[in-house]
Amino acid sequence: MWTVASYVVKQKLRRRKRYPLVLMLEPLFRCNLACAGCGKIQHPSNILKQNLSVAECLNAVDECGAPIVSIPGGEPLLHPEIDQIVEGMIERGKYVYLCTNAILLEQHLHRFKPSPQLSFSVHLDGLREDHDAAVCRNGVYDVTIQAIKIAVAQGFRVTTNTTVFSHGDPERLRGMFDTLMEIGVEGMMISPGYQYEKAPDQEHFLSRDQTIGLFSRILSNAKRSWIFNQSPLFIEYLKGNWELECTPWGSPTYNLFGWQKPCYLLQDGYAESFQELMDSVDWDSYGRASGNEQCQDCMVHCGYEPTAVDATFSTISGFALSAWRTIFGSRRDRELPQLVTDSKVPTPAEGQLVQLETLTETSFETEANTVDVCDSNILT
Ligand code: SF4
Ligand code: SF4
Repeated sequence: MWTVASYVVKQKLRRRKRYPLVLMLEPLFRCNLACAGCGKIQHPSNILKQNLSVAECLNAVDECGAPIVSIPGGEPLLHPEIDQIVEGMIERGKYVYLCTNAILLEQHLHRFKPSPQLSFSVHLDGLREDHDAAVCRNGVYDVTIQAIKIAVAQGFRVTTNTTVFSHGDPERLRGMFDTLMEIGVEGMMISPGYQYEKAPDQEHFLSRDQTIGLFSRILSNAKRSWIFNQSPLFIEYLKGNWELECTPWGSPTYNLFGWQKPCYLLQDGYAESFQELMDSVDWDSYGRASGNEQCQDCMVHCGYEPTAVDATFSTISGFALSAWRTIFGSRRDRELPQLVTDSKVPTPAEGQLVQLETLTETSFETEANTVDVCDSNILT
């Protein structure tokens, strides 16, 4: 949290309008599953056989500069050099989320060292019956839960990522949250699925209204024991309580084809460098406000989580709601101050913004005492 907060504040102080927060690095597309809602594995076999090299992956990390790297795929554990890729990222000070369906996790754990900078982000879409149906193979849920327990026991950080489709059952998903917390998962991430044209199952993607309705039920009266590994504002957005617009540059994607335009979900061409990606995409053509049909029902984390993080640090109301949620969860909504409940609060008045920036700037000028000074200033 501290790394992300200080990084975002630095971008603000530099007046950088568009900046990356999470690099989505796809080192390969092949997988040992074929899930019904997957839009990543439908490439021809000559593409599926290929891997990004260690050097290509680390060059992308250096070019991009984001503090967090998420490694989806495909199944990254099928990459023969994934351990070296992760090690290189950790050496660079990055926080790494290695996404995996966990089928190979137990047998590959010995390739990694537990580190505060490494989390296995395990794909889990529900309890036994629901998850096995989502990944189209019986028995995967049990293997996954067992692998999580072993990884936790060996000292690794484990988070989960769950994609919700229209047949998601709120009560069973809440039951899954309980189970994951009980077995030592550190934080959970949930997101609606994106309607990939190439996904075999086209029937169960959610419209925007369906997403808000379903997530409101899943997350209403959230238990204090549930820990989500995503920003409070993104969760409020999924529940329809907060307005956000997509910032696709916040999660740039690099894969075998180059830098994918404009986001992790769409494939409107590729750039050869990160700078070319930032310079060549017409960003105003994407996001809901643009009218782009491909974006109208999208509420996926890769587009909106960076917006939520940015809003936390650039609006008083966003910061206040995030702090409130972090401290009180969702159980004391009736006591929320007006500033926090009004999601349509405009950008703070110039004076307020300047005041916030002055405080944070002070904290960076006194780097020797960064933690003390920043803590007191931000909380004040
Ligand atoms: S595990 Fe992930 S990458 Fe593999 S098929 Fe399923 S959704 Fe696609
Ligand atoms: S709204 Fe979704 S599909 Fe459109 S640019 Fe943003 S992340 Fe991509």
